[in-house]
Amino acid sequence: MTDQHTRFSDIAFEFFIRPERMGEYLLVPLEVPENVESLALAYDYPTHSHPTQSLAEGTFTARVRENTIDLGLVAPDGRQVGASGADKREIFISATQATPGYGATDLVPGTWHILAGAYRVAPEGVLVRYQARFTYKQPRWLLGDAHTHTIGSDGKLTAQELAEHARANGLDWLVITDHNQFIREGALPRLPGLTVIPGVEWTHYQGHANFLGLEKPYDAPFFTNSFEETRARFQSTWERGATIVINHPYDEGCPFLYDLDALPFHLLEVWNGPMRPSNLRAIGLWNELLKAGRHVPAIGGSDYHNDRLAQILAGPCVNVLADSDSQADILAALRRGRSYMVFQPESARLEMRSGTAQLGDSTPWSPDSRLDIKLEGLLPGDVLKLITAEGTRELFTSPATGAFEGSFKVEKPGFARVELWQSFGGMLPLLPALVSNPIWFE
Ligand SMILES: [Zn+2]
Ligand SMILES: [Zn+2]
Repeated sequence: MTDQHTRFSDIAFEFFIRPERMGEYLLVPLEVPENVESLALAYDYPTHSHPTQSLAEGTFTARVRENTIDLGLVAPDGRQVGASGADKREIFISATQATPGYGATDLVPGTWHILAGAYRVAPEGVLVRYQARFTYKQPRWLLGDAHTHTIGSDGKLTAQELAEHARANGLDWLVITDHNQFIREGALPRLPGLTVIPGVEWTHYQGHANFLGLEKPYDAPFFTNSFEETRARFQSTWERGATIVINHPYDEGCPFLYDLDALPFHLLEVWNGPMRPSNLRAIGLWNELLKAGRHVPAIGGSDYHNDRLAQILAGPCVNVLADSDSQADILAALRRGRSYMVFQPESARLEMRSGTAQLGDSTPWSPDSRLDIKLEGLLPGDVLKLITAEGTRELFTSPATGAFEGSFKVEKPGFARVELWQSFGGMLPLLPALVSNPIWFE
């Protein structure tokens, strides 16, 4: 059964080991289908025979060890995922968790191999029964922070303390982006329910950029002394597979001074730390790029260093619709723009679609195109705005605490995104409390 509309599929198979194979390490192929998030593998075989003897006093049943078959798992690229001798009868593997003795790893489609170590085999051979359950990826919303610092640069928490803080704040993922300082995969904190992604904030007198998803996005020292060197650095980092974010373009202290048209990047950080004029200008810059037809998704990050007035971890928070909680799927969803930013993890929740198209998708425009918007967690006075290439339209003002649902005509091809403006308890003028990525209408 491999129906992916169900969440999982099960397969069972047998492997017979002849007695003359005793002492060999045998490989049993295991085909992993597309779109698998986790594998649970179990195996069983008769370990003992029980010969019975008739005695004058009665009967005696012996317990004789006959078979010992070891378990291991090898990925399609030949890498050992783990080996557990004959100790474990069940193992579990996903990109973020694994049974001790096995490494958390992406369940890439292809031919994997189960290691069947024929340590001890009975004279009549042994039948080993395997059962595999593949659980498939399903899109889910995950809360995270894409820009944080630790004591690796000028932050105040260790990576472990930061990860625990993130988990306590309800985050599902976190990127560590210390200034000009990489964090090795092996040094990433491992906390159940939290995906920690390596990153670095490339920090230069001419601007800051986050390189996400690699433990070593470049080899040379961080500094560059000409635009050409900088461009080559961005180009090679891009080719190595990093997700490149242009950070806080109008920051009061460290604006981004290079020409954006001349550098490769995936994402623009339009919301850095507390909402303030520099972020409003960054949103304005982003809007100009969108109007010019550039498919550049936006991202936010708290730029967290330590708890201080108006600066908190996940302020802003990025809510991303990822196919799984793996690093690769979270980064892919961010690059695609399947996300929106909110000012803290507990704030409003958005669902926005046009037909089957989600945030970040492109869909053909027609005069019947509509945008369906659902918002939860609204506060009195919240103003919902629709932003397109034609301008900004106020759609709705929330009279009370509650939820909103509406459907709007998309007048022209281009892009459509929403913002929710809030007065933060009436203490501040209206400011963005939620900023979505667009759906593009071609
Ligand atoms: Zn910075
Ligand atoms: Zn920073």
